[in-house]
Amino acid sequence: MRSEIAARVAARTQAGKRPPGLAAVLVGDDPASQTYVRNKHKACQDAGLVSAIHKLPASTTEAQLLDLVAQLNADPAVHGILVQLPLPRQINESAVIRAVSETKDVDCFRPENVGLLAAGFPRFYPCTPHGVIQLLTRNGIALAGKEVVVVGRSNIVGKPLALMLMQKPTAANPAAADATVTVAHTRTQNLVEVCCRADILVAAAGRAGVITADMVKPGAAVVDVGTNSVNGKLVGDVHPDVWAVAGWVSPVPGGVGPMTITMLLYNTLAAAELLDGSTV
Ligand code: NAP
Repeated sequence: MRSEIAARVAARTQAGKRPPGLAAVLVGDDPASQTYVRNKHKACQDAGLVSAIHKLPASTTEAQLLDLVAQLNADPAVHGILVQLPLPRQINESAVIRAVSETKDVDCFRPENVGLLAAGFPRFYPCTPHGVIQLLTRNGIALAGKEVVVVGRSNIVGKPLALMLMQKPTAANPAAADATVTVAHTRTQNLVEVCCRADILVAAAGRAGVITADMVKPGAAVVDVGTNSVNGKLVGDVHPDVWAVAGWVSPVPGGVGPMTITMLLYNTLAAAELLDGSTV
């Protein structure tokens, strides 16, 4: 997918159009956030996008951050704005998310963009859910009519993924998946029984190894969204024993993490195309 995006970016620039530009804003010195932003920056450069990282100290005020977002909103070379979360305590995340221009909201966090997604007319697809769907379909795992169980209902992963999975694909909503979807969470009763119904099980709980072999139907496809640090090691939500039962498992590291970055590049290119009305 990254080489497909790189080819579309090259075609744009050869046609004399601006390369898609991503501005990443990093506040503070959280090591995980620094790694995420660095990886996104490198992936942009490799695909021919222009990427700038704006580093602000942990003491930054909400007003200072909103000022920077306003400048980036007004900059025609910036097509996508990514404010890396979490933000320091003194800054209201929701206020910052809502300050990013609707047409530069490449994370698809703004309520207006979530609303368009829910209505079946997405401007952008949220990166991690879109990455999950592309990971499955490009590995030949069909979703239409399948029982999909999503463990997790957050605004970033579980909820928008369930929306995409359950919707009918249309020209305006091509990544919709026509699946039969169950969303599980901490109040779900009989979680093992619910998960065992799944042809496709998506683990997005953020709890290391919470999906165990007894929760997986033999032969099912299992997507591991979780990224948990255990003794300094990155592990997913899927227990290693699951590999012996499932038909297909996405690994951590690898799998959904790199796909999320790929879909960020995809959205930044889409934002540039939206701006100039082209689909080069
Ligand atoms: P979150 O906001 O903490 O949400 C976790 C969800 O899982 C909640 O809905 C919670 O239920 C549910 N849950 C937690 N423990 C559970 C359990 N034992 N049984 C059933 N449900 C349970 O997390 P998030 O932002 O969605 O992220 C989830 C995981 O994905 C994290 O590990 C995160 O680091 C990872 N992630 C990875 C990527 C990537 O690019 N690879 C991107 C985003 C997130 P309640 O609602 O009832 O509390």
